[in-house]
Amino acid sequence: MIALNRTPWTYRIGIPVFHVVAIYGIVTAPLTWPTAIVGLALYTIRGFGITVGYHRYFTHESFKTSRPVAFLLALFGGLAGQGTASWWVYRHRTHHRYTDKVGDPHSPRVDGFYHAHLGWLFKDATPESRDGENALRGEWPRELRVLDRWIPILFLSQGALLYAWAGWSGVTWGFFVPTIVSWHLTFFVNSLCHVYGDRPFDTQDDSRNNRFFAALMFGEGWHNNHHAWPRNAKLGLRPLQIDLGFYFIKFLEVFGLVHDLHVKTEDEIRTSVKRYTRVA
Ligand SMILES: [Zn+2]
Ligand SMILES: [Zn+2]
Repeated sequence: MIALNRTPWTYRIGIPVFHVVAIYGIVTAPLTWPTAIVGLALYTIRGFGITVGYHRYFTHESFKTSRPVAFLLALFGGLAGQGTASWWVYRHRTHHRYTDKVGDPHSPRVDGFYHAHLGWLFKDATPESRDGENALRGEWPRELRVLDRWIPILFLSQGALLYAWAGWSGVTWGFFVPTIVSWHLTFFVNSLCHVYGDRPFDTQDDSRNNRFFAALMFGEGWHNNHHAWPRNAKLGLRPLQIDLGFYFIKFLEVFGLVHDLHVKTEDEIRTSVKRYTRVA
């Protein structure tokens, strides 16, 4: 068994506090058009940062890009409050390496639904995970290492700026509510998208395609497609499988901001399934 020796106190304290403050804000802070628009805009920018930046670029290397664009993707992902890029990437690669087996950080099959959704965040870190994060950072250019160190401060600064801009309404609807919504929609990919939905690919795990979460999470709900071929930049493989994350990557490609997209069609993935391996 892996030794445990570190307490993620930021999650144990921060996540409950954020929920309480968000609920109190929803009850007491008036929702105005400006705060709603800013909240939606921040939710969208940070959502693209998670799916395109943290997930498709940093974890799976689905495309190539320049250092400035990589920095911005890491920044937007980091502003979602889902941990540093190295923390996120290390754990998600571990999820792919051990999907729905012992060693998977969040598997409903192994540890139950609540653990896969939220409980796993409160577990102690391991020496292996810290070594893994350090190894990742060691491969990154200096600006990404610096960002990894300071992103928690930048994340919280959003709240301070929104409070300065529009008081209690600004920080509630611009910061706390979009953060909580983004958290749980991401968590549902880890929990519900391994329990409910379609399985067009016979992967060696419980991953599912769930169109509801695909729509709300910029394509992330096409999770069985993703586990079938994790490196694919494109998660929605069929015409009606809406994948806003991939459309955003194509948009960036038009302007020459990303290149060498790794894209396979559903048929190509099916014929390659013999070569299917768990991407580290
Ligand atoms: Zn998964
Ligand atoms: Zn993945």
